[in-house]
Amino acid sequence: MRFCKECNNILHPKENRTTRTLFYACNRCAYREEAGQSCVYENNLVKTTELKLDIVHEDVVNDPTLQRSKHQICDRCNYSEAVFFQADDSAKSSSLSLIFVCTHCGKKWVG
Ligand SMILES: [Zn+2]
Ligand SMILES: [Zn+2]
Repeated sequence: MRFCKECNNILHPKENRTTRTLFYACNRCAYREEAGQSCVYENNLVKTTELKLDIVHEDVVNDPTLQRSKHQICDRCNYSEAVFFQADDSAKSSSLSLIFVCTHCGKKWVG
């Protein structure tokens, strides 16, 4: 629990949707305070995922050894077949995320 340094009221956690960071705000006065560590960690996770998608070649859709799914709808071209494989799991991330690549337009996303 955090308290306002100006009026000692309870601070409430809020999200800044533009910068995707957390901050604490007082309801009684205009005092605000950065939330610190936890949101920095969240930002790192987002960047790691984007990086993974960047290094995926679009020609993986021609790789016959990869699994295919007919139940993934591409939100760019609406095609329903995509190849998928497990994201290279680094020590930083414990989540087993799958990377999908649309076989029609090559759009990549994490599922
Ligand atoms: Zn206050
Ligand atoms: Zn597509």
